[in-house]
Amino acid sequence: MNFHILTLFPDMVMSGLKESITGRAMEKGLININAINIRDFAGNKYGHVDDYTYGGGAGMLMQAEPVYKAYKFVEETVTKPRVLYMTPQGKRFDQKMAEELSKEDDIILLCGHYEGIDERVLDMIVTDHVSIGDFVLTGGELPAMMIADAVSRLVPGVLGSDESAVYESFYDGLLEYPQYTRPEEFMGVKVPEVLLSGHHKNIEKWRHEQALLRTKERRPDLYEKYVKEHDNK
Ligand code: SAM
Repeated sequence: MNFHILTLFPDMVMSGLKESITGRAMEKGLININAINIRDFAGNKYGHVDDYTYGGGAGMLMQAEPVYKAYKFVEETVTKPRVLYMTPQGKRFDQKMAEELSKEDDIILLCGHYEGIDERVLDMIVTDHVSIGDFVLTGGELPAMMIADAVSRLVPGVLGSDESAVYESFYDGLLEYPQYTRPEEFMGVKVPEVLLSGHHKNIEKWRHEQALLRTKERRPDLYEKYVKEHDNK
């Protein structure tokens, strides 16, 4: 799976993603993350890629041409890639979207900066407008890194065991149950007895109950959806 990240700050993106699990996945060739510097496609010797907005208003806007050229540079090597523009105006990114994207061979993640990007080039190249939440960041780099991370861990082989992603929060519509590791007792607090029992059926039952309780308490919206869906089965 190949991620092509169009950005003004390639080092920022790569320095985060080359660490830990995504870094190892790149070394193993399971994923490929390529950050393309939009500034390399500036049509002037100063590397300017932004300008004032027509009609007035605060801030600068990224110009259409360098973004378009950076996109064409990638598009020459891949067929019909999905082009995700990172924007607070987009569809909210979630686990379902991560799962869907993990089936693609190539994804372009387009990062805006300043006030964003000239609308004309967005209309020409973007297939999906994606937001990571209802707040405004200074740039699309962190959203792109988040998406590349969440999608990468669903690519077969990236996580240590295939089961790791299966029992994660959101996988079945519930938050994950609480987990514990050694020691059995920490500051007087013991690990729940059932987890030490070795009785797999009981452990499974306890985990499911805990996942329900936790979801009801922390994410009543998800809980209601889960109950409705399971009542109809
Ligand atoms: N003027 C834009 C607006 O009001 O929609 C916001 C521009 S923001 C300051 C600069 C860039 O950060 C955006 O082009 C986008 O790439 C990125 N960005 C900011 N918040 C984001 C969010 N919640 N999700 C995804 N990308 C975001």
